[in-house]
Amino acid sequence: MKKVTLLIPVYNEEATLPVLYKRLLELMARNGGYEWEMLFVNDGSSDRSLDCLRRLRAEDPRVNYVNLSRNFGKEIAMLAGFDYATGDCCVVMDADLQDPPELVDQMLKYWEEGYDDIYARRRTRGEESWLRRRLSLAFYSLLQKMSRIDILPNVGDFRLLDRRCVLTLRRLREHERYTKGLFCWIGYRKKGIEFDRGDRVAGRSSWSFFRLLNLAIEGITSSSTAPLRIATVCGLLCSVSSFVYGIYFLVKTLLYGDQAAGFPTLIIVILFLGGIQLFALGVIGEYIGRIFKETKGRPAYIASDYNETKLGYE
Ligand code: UDP
Ligand code: MG
Repeated sequence: MKKVTLLIPVYNEEATLPVLYKRLLELMARNGGYEWEMLFVNDGSSDRSLDCLRRLRAEDPRVNYVNLSRNFGKEIAMLAGFDYATGDCCVVMDADLQDPPELVDQMLKYWEEGYDDIYARRRTRGEESWLRRRLSLAFYSLLQKMSRIDILPNVGDFRLLDRRCVLTLRRLREHERYTKGLFCWIGYRKKGIEFDRGDRVAGRSSWSFFRLLNLAIEGITSSSTAPLRIATVCGLLCSVSSFVYGIYFLVKTLLYGDQAAGFPTLIIVILFLGGIQLFALGVIGEYIGRIFKETKGRPAYIASDYNETKLGYE
């Protein structure tokens, strides 16, 4: 019998877990032809999510959980999930039921047809502010232009991955992860299905504006070096234009003599160039920071428990 792993990152979801579990039971009952694993990754929740998971585990041996030693963020939590997933395929879904489990039936059908990565594309985005939606769409189109791989807009992490995708993803161990980009980067046979994204059943989204902004910068710098190229081109344009401008002044001075004037022009040029230089430095720093983090060679996360077993690193 083929085994399906449901991979669910959990961060402060004590209110949603019982509801989620009930919906998953329905899902598993509908698809009795598979063996199931529910793999919860507790990403350092500060509420009682872990107790809740322990209780579920005690009642139902199909529940497995990995407990991370602190909050590492959803991207890393998913990596931990890939490491511990045992199924022949793995469905990544959110704990807040914004990803309807009913869609998994359809994903499984496509998986049987031989697709490796069946992703869910949101037709609607659920309740969110106008600004957030605009910014998010603008970000996707920017990212698309900057990197060579396709990063699909309106596609989240909700998807079914064949085991070979999971094994491949395990080998991509960068710390600053932008998993959506990684899914696209690994390739394999993809298939999209559409769904309407609902609202959270309880709790609130843990993504503040600044966390999203961080994720956006992460997304760009982890899947593209275009900002460096842009800085180069900016520098080039400035050099060329200042060279031309310089020649103009040289000729003008030779012909008409030197009239010391143009203080505003001077200030504007200095400030403009200073701004561009700082910007370029920032861009370079962004990449150096990434190099710095990766060269330390630390594990991406620390798992403190797998089910009842305490984990340590010898
Ligand atoms: N999550 C996580 N670690 C975090 C933040 C979120 O594991 O630091 C999980 C969370 O429990 C949920 C999923 O990631 O299962 C999506 O989180 P959320 O609903 O807050 O994000 P949104 O739906 O707003 O994108
Ligand atoms: Mg959510």
